[in-house]
Amino acid sequence: MAILNGNSTASPSSKVEDFHAALDILKKDYPERDGIDVKTLIDSRLNGGLTYNDFLVLPGYIGFPASEVTLDTPVTKRITLKTPFVSSPMDTVTEHSMAIHIALLGGLGVIHHNCSPDEQAEMVRKVKRFENGFILDPVVISPKTTVGEAKALKEKWGFGGFPVTENGTLRSKLVGIITPRDIQFHAELDDHVTAVMSTDLVTARTGITLKEANELLSKSKKGKLPIIDENGNLVALLSRSDLMKNLHYPLASKLPHSKQLISAAAIGTRPEDKNRLQKLVDAGLDIVILDSSQGNSMYQAEMIKFIKEKYPGLDVIGGNVVTREQAATLIAAGVDGLRIGMGSGSACITQEVMAVGRPQAAAVYNVTQFAKRFGVPCIADGGIQNVGHIVKGLALGATTVMMGGLLAGTTESPGQYFVSREGKLVKAYRGMGSIDAMEDKKAGAGSKDSKASNAGTARYFSEGDRLLVAQGVSGSVLDRGSITKFVPYLITGVQHSLQDMGVRSVTELHDRVEDGTVRFELRTASAQAEGGVHGLESFDKKLYS
Ligand code: GDP
Ligand code: 5GP
Repeated sequence: MAILNGNSTASPSSKVEDFHAALDILKKDYPERDGIDVKTLIDSRLNGGLTYNDFLVLPGYIGFPASEVTLDTPVTKRITLKTPFVSSPMDTVTEHSMAIHIALLGGLGVIHHNCSPDEQAEMVRKVKRFENGFILDPVVISPKTTVGEAKALKEKWGFGGFPVTENGTLRSKLVGIITPRDIQFHAELDDHVTAVMSTDLVTARTGITLKEANELLSKSKKGKLPIIDENGNLVALLSRSDLMKNLHYPLASKLPHSKQLISAAAIGTRPEDKNRLQKLVDAGLDIVILDSSQGNSMYQAEMIKFIKEKYPGLDVIGGNVVTREQAATLIAAGVDGLRIGMGSGSACITQEVMAVGRPQAAAVYNVTQFAKRFGVPCIADGGIQNVGHIVKGLALGATTVMMGGLLAGTTESPGQYFVSREGKLVKAYRGMGSIDAMEDKKAGAGSKDSKASNAGTARYFSEGDRLLVAQGVSGSVLDRGSITKFVPYLITGVQHSLQDMGVRSVTELHDRVEDGTVRFELRTASAQAEGGVHGLESFDKKLYS
């Protein structure tokens, strides 16, 4: 063994080597890199099924700033995101507000289906309508619309800038525009909008490019730019607030030729779910997730084939799976992406009750190894408690990670904050297989359309049973503030982590793990204790500022 010793008075018997030769000696005498490769790490026959806390990634060489690390990564065969973060389709995690904000920050929110098809479609519509280039189907009103009706429309849609045309439809002559300020303090609700609308309009003609139209809009002092044809008929609308959104959210998840945010939603695999899906597609859905705790079923395989045939433009993510065999069924049926995880979720008791599942690190590695041969991207779903877990999921081959509990305490998740018995600010978080969630589904609670809500959204194959068997719990999680701060923290954290490993991107991470450059180390129980905060009398764990 080489002894690196710079002391020239060392005894003649010790082998002194030149410091400068360290790198040559490393190459010559240590052909094997330090640590173990991923295959050795994961081989469950040797080690038992591993999970994220059971190992660490060894550091590499830092030759670039963390800010240069890019996180672009596919979520399906056709759709790439700029950050690897996906929010879970759970009714305490993802409704339209989460879906919109996580998409603005480069991720993807999957809208849950514990609600009626119409309610879910409405949420998809809100995501698609949130940000636009040319709005090709703007909400238009007629001169006969009353101020009261315009106020109600603003309530319904969340925006209040409506073009007024002769017939109250698109492709009819533009006569004015009404803005929220025009109606805000107008007390006579029965007045027609013509009493308050602006008629002094800046407009542009069809044929104008989006760039030119945006320039015109930024020069004008107006909030909206109606686009009209040669006869003065309204054909589209441009909104100033979209200019601002583009400036503030450069990572926003959009399809290459669209200005709208990418939308995703979950459905079940019962026949009734086909009607639900039609409504979601009509609302502009881009990605559907087939939500099942055990995805390897004839129901799911048939549903995938049906969707790929009927909606070739829609991407389908299947799951959940934790083995190669499960994945193979869904890949053969035509999925564009897979969701990996069974029993690793923070609110989940599947492994305890059903005795089935798999530790998440083993599940992610084994499925992604197989799926990548077919170019199918994989989401590591569940068990993500910190930035380190995200990076470990990616290192094991996942292209994105799905989070439930970690995002449930944010401002953008559904529900109100409340003060816990210990005096802490918390929000409710419950497993979708908890008795609470399944009873709500059975009763159609919170839904205007209880029959439809009831129908066909079973994830745990138990919702239709007389006796419900829980696979999840309900509880609460601590307040995490807004994801507009939390997701940038996750992004920066992952960038620094990849920098420590010496890789510049998620793709490079996958390649360097595969070729054995990125190395791993198993962690004993005491190593895990050592890696946490220890020996302090008290401490405050503030994660970012
Ligand atoms: P408003 O002034 O109340 O209309 O609202 P903002 O201009 O602040 O925001 C409108 C947002 O809703 C923009 O991002 C639009 O792209 C989006 N949007 C989607 N569909 C429509 C529509 O039909 N009409 C309007 N006015 N905005 C729409
Ligand atoms: P978390 O990020 O909270 O650790 O895990 C979220 C994931 O847990 C979800 O995306 C979903 O796959 C899974 N999950 C959600 N609810 C339940 C449940 O009631 N039981 C089980 N087994 N898994 C659940």
